[in-house]
Amino acid sequence: MARAMSPAPEPVAAPATATGAVPARADSGPQRALRRLGLVRPIDLALHLPLRYEDLTRVRTLSEARAGDEVLIEGSVIATEVRPHPRRQLVATLQVAGGGRCTLRFFTFYPSHQKALAVGSRVRAHGELRGSDWAGWTMMHPRLLSADAPLSQGLTPVYPTTAGLPQAYLRAAIAHALRQVDLTETVPSDALADLPLPLAGGPGGHWTLRAALQYLHQPDPREPLAALQDRQHPAWQRLKAEELLAQQLAQVQARRERDALRAPVLRAAPEGLPQRLQAALPFALTGAQRRVVAEIAADLARPVPMHRLLQGDVGSGKTVVAALAAAVAIDAGWQCALMAPTEILAEQHFGKLVQWIEPLLAPLGRTVAWLTGSQPRAQRQAMLARIASGEAALVVGTHAVIQEQVAFARLGLAVIDEQHRFGVAQRLALRRKAGASAAGLEPHLLMMSATPIPRTLAMTVYGDLDVSTIDELPPGRSPIVTKVLAAHRRPAVIERIRAQVAQGRQVYWVCPLIEESEALDLRAATATHAELAQALAGVHGPDGRPVQVGLLHARLAAAEKKAIMAAFAAGALAVLVSTTVIEVGVDVPNASLMVIEHAERFGLSQLHQLRGRVGRGTVASVCLLLYSPGESGRVSDSARERLRAMVETQDGFEIARRDLAIRGPGEFLGSRQSGTPLLRFADLDTDEPLIEWARRWAPRLWARDPAAAQRHLERWLGGKLDYLKA
Ligand code: ADP
Ligand code: MG
Repeated sequence: MARAMSPAPEPVAAPATATGAVPARADSGPQRALRRLGLVRPIDLALHLPLRYEDLTRVRTLSEARAGDEVLIEGSVIATEVRPHPRRQLVATLQVAGGGRCTLRFFTFYPSHQKALAVGSRVRAHGELRGSDWAGWTMMHPRLLSADAPLSQGLTPVYPTTAGLPQAYLRAAIAHALRQVDLTETVPSDALADLPLPLAGGPGGHWTLRAALQYLHQPDPREPLAALQDRQHPAWQRLKAEELLAQQLAQVQARRERDALRAPVLRAAPEGLPQRLQAALPFALTGAQRRVVAEIAADLARPVPMHRLLQGDVGSGKTVVAALAAAVAIDAGWQCALMAPTEILAEQHFGKLVQWIEPLLAPLGRTVAWLTGSQPRAQRQAMLARIASGEAALVVGTHAVIQEQVAFARLGLAVIDEQHRFGVAQRLALRRKAGASAAGLEPHLLMMSATPIPRTLAMTVYGDLDVSTIDELPPGRSPIVTKVLAAHRRPAVIERIRAQVAQGRQVYWVCPLIEESEALDLRAATATHAELAQALAGVHGPDGRPVQVGLLHARLAAAEKKAIMAAFAAGALAVLVSTTVIEVGVDVPNASLMVIEHAERFGLSQLHQLRGRVGRGTVASVCLLLYSPGESGRVSDSARERLRAMVETQDGFEIARRDLAIRGPGEFLGSRQSGTPLLRFADLDTDEPLIEWARRWAPRLWARDPAAAQRHLERWLGGKLDYLKA
């Protein structure tokens, strides 16, 4: 994402000028760097907008500047030295034209700096001014410019760039592109007139695309910097609107392509599997579950592939909805594949579902097949044969289901649990795999997620999905009390655990596993396990048996993990110490206390997912978040906000909203999904009115002038279209 890129280091060689060389050899380093940034066509360069601007048009005096201003000053060097302490640095003092002195300080410097700052030299320095008249002025790492060169005529844009691509080169390439590029309008005037912002007032009386780009790339030096950098300015708004429109058009296109595909019509017979399954359930569906089941059934009965996201908070009961959808597919004579991100999750998420459905399949002579990475070869072969023959009505597994040579006889429905953990590439692979299924028919796709997608994201990145939401928890859930405690309160926490387990309750203790130091963290988890085992020695449960503490971590073999989980689920273990492998999916209603150590290290939705492991039964549950201030002696602001959010709300949607606010959309989506620059300029937080506008106009434009819509898409997205369709 362009905004996340850091600007290139300023040219360190001094004195430098702001005029750049024009692209030279065809495959020079900078050319390659341009390609890496996706800046290939003139339009790509034209749409690569500045991060900020530098005013190198005039030299300021210290008396007209204030602390915090970015200014260009000029003066003669009256002292220069390299100080070894406290950190090696080059320090020069400038007698500034117009009066006063300014200290220039460099922690990274080259002989060229020392040469430029030799006593007696005249130089210009550009940078942020710190200090004051009375305390003295300083610039850290200013850009040094020759005092002889003519001043710039316009404000100097600073572009997002990458290693090996100097600003000057990029500037020249963009200026060159702007002269060549075709900027014919693709957005019709009635759509522009409907924009929720005034476009009047541009250079030609109106902010055309060309006017907006010109304004931002080559700003008028009289334009205040603040206006240019304000993304609410009409020129920025115009570009954000264009970008959002392109994104919505891509989704209209994806949806149309999908609507042109054929899928099997899946409809259950009266008194069929779904009805029998529902009758066999130990509970009645909630209103919300009934509603989403109906939405899904309606999709399955259409001859076009479903592409639906089922979202519902942890514990809202998504599994039974998936089971009913699977039952519809099977009843109609098709196969259903269920996938979870890991083996242990596949088992936990779908174990119950299989228990429900398997007895209903047996009389029909159909079975369930498990596919996992760790299963013995012979067993795997047998499973594959069952899937290929169609005997397996239900196929449960990890990504292995889509990654390997699994041939389905008649795949009608694919269900992906915890879909946010699957990357775009995997979604594409699944669609391709699925496409190869039966007689040119694509299967229906149901994705499930416990991380609700905030509204603006749902309208943009996930805009081509249909969304069903379970907004109601099954009855009888008790609220969870969440408390934040400093790590030194650990003894009190352990005391609380003793009391809980003596009453027959069960406890989770989560230790974070951070990848960089897996071994260290594992040692910490092992130590915690030993500590708890010792503290609970001699404690007996209500059944009179001594309580046991288990340890679950990522390095255990799958079979060991399974055995430990089973022991905890059966109540044989009172306490489960675990690294984050229990993050999602475990269902042990008797667990009533969740302790999360180093809670400050977890992401907000992760914490929420973990907390969702308790409060599944009728007993009052508690979640204790232990934090340890880092070396700085304090917890970071964002960690503090996450912990506060946990205490203040249990609502998954509110959590997702706050998570988005704390992290921004790129990270919210997870690095695996945000690999494409979906939105460079628009901001999901502030630009909701523009998003709404683009949603309204994209289908109209497509219907009215598909060729213009296509041109608009090409212009904005070029080769990235494939990703948007995933
Ligand atoms: P999630 O949405 O997190 O996947 P699950 O499907 O695991 O939630 O459901 C959580 C628990 O709630 C399970 O034990 C499930 O059997 C139970 N459950 C689901 N629906 C209902 C319901 N309508 N009434 C009572 N319990 C339900
Ligand atoms: Mg689930």
